[in-house]
Amino acid sequence: MISSEGVCELIQKNREGRPVVGCFPLYPPVELFESFGFLPVVLWNLKRSIKNLETSDRHIQPYACGIARELVQFAISERETLDAIFFYNACDTLRNLPEILELPHDPAQESWPVFRLHLPQVDRTQCNPLGYLENEVVRLIKEVENVCGQRFSPDRFLTTTEKYKVMRGLCTEAEDLVAQGRLGFELFCQTVLAGCASGVDVQIERLERLVFEARPEEVSTEKKRVVVSGIMPPRPPVIGAMEASGLCVVANDIASLKRSYGFSPEPSRSPETYYDALYSRHVPCTTLLHTSDERVETLVEMVSRSRAQGVIFCGEKFCEHEYFEFPYVKKRLSEMGVSTLFLEFSVDDDQLAAAHATRVEAFAEMM
Ligand code: SF4
Repeated sequence: MISSEGVCELIQKNREGRPVVGCFPLYPPVELFESFGFLPVVLWNLKRSIKNLETSDRHIQPYACGIARELVQFAISERETLDAIFFYNACDTLRNLPEILELPHDPAQESWPVFRLHLPQVDRTQCNPLGYLENEVVRLIKEVENVCGQRFSPDRFLTTTEKYKVMRGLCTEAEDLVAQGRLGFELFCQTVLAGCASGVDVQIERLERLVFEARPEEVSTEKKRVVVSGIMPPRPPVIGAMEASGLCVVANDIASLKRSYGFSPEPSRSPETYYDALYSRHVPCTTLLHTSDERVETLVEMVSRSRAQGVIFCGEKFCEHEYFEFPYVKKRLSEMGVSTLFLEFSVDDDQLAAAHATRVEAFAEMM
């Protein structure tokens, strides 16, 4: 059983003397950092690891999403825990945060090493961005080499990418067990999200145990089938209400879950080839603009393949990327006879847990 540990506890338990690089969400090149001996930590799911948003609120407007506000609070208050930060052009909100974080907030501290990657997001039918991406990857490797004082190793990169492929395959296997009712969705979410601060070896071990300990038989075929979509999974009380209302999550389109583990390129000694494959064939996401044309069809196809009767959208308040898409997706799903429920989560959603749970129960009854 995986406990619901916070990110700080996971880092302390799993760093094993390694330097820690705090990576901005959503899809950082974690394999590259692990191959250099870093523990890469994807900076989301931080609610349990911060006390409040006092420091963040001095720098970020309250109408930024909770993920960005919690990230800034965590990065400033846990500065001693992180040895470097990495960011890429994931969304407008995240793009502007490095300027806030780069310089120390305490004069006694030194500046952080900051690693950057600019991911080309052009339509590949009109322009091939491979040369640009290659340059970016090579530049990033040089930046990391300068900070680490060690050279990039193609062999270590190959071994690391092999492990990530295994880990993502296990996530998919566990997702299928959830769909069969043999594994609880909350435990699945906790295990996958714990991987964001654990390193790939520990994550493989945990997932193997999760899959091994799944119930041998499907429990009930009476459950109502739903797909869950959003940036983060619903909060635990909402998942509890879903399970108590007889809903079974038959597939997910969550950025921190399926969109992160749904595709893993072939292991490679070449980071340029690997990241070209990773980002060009990534599970479509609202933040990967070059995949936006495929996005709605992918979700619709997921709903039909999994024979879902309903879709629950978990919106992160103030996330424009996701919100622009909802009306069109809702229209497409209603044409297919699929029910939809829209829930909104924000930094203060603990106070709304009961309201969300009531809406989930009503949705399940009406499906
Ligand atoms: S929730 Fe949306 S706005 Fe916030 S960091 Fe994620 S993609 Fe960016």
